[in-house]
Amino acid sequence: MAGNFYAVQCPDCENEQIVFGKAASTVACAVCGTTLARSTGGDATFEGEVIETVERRDADGELADTGT
Ligand SMILES: [Zn+2]
Repeated sequence: MAGNFYAVQCPDCENEQIVFGKAASTVACAVCGTTLARSTGGDATFEGEVIETVERRDADGELADTGT
């Protein structure tokens, strides 16, 4: 599985942000800077509430470029 994206809601400001499920580093809220996800070396640990799972279907998605 190539990995999914998750819509995570910030616990502080309720901003909804898309986070890669295998984020390689800590992901902060773009609005208030609260940590939304922490890298664990595998699947990220989410600090906010995951409100939606977004499966990546095509290799040319706009959300992230994994390095091709
Ligand atoms: Zn926030």
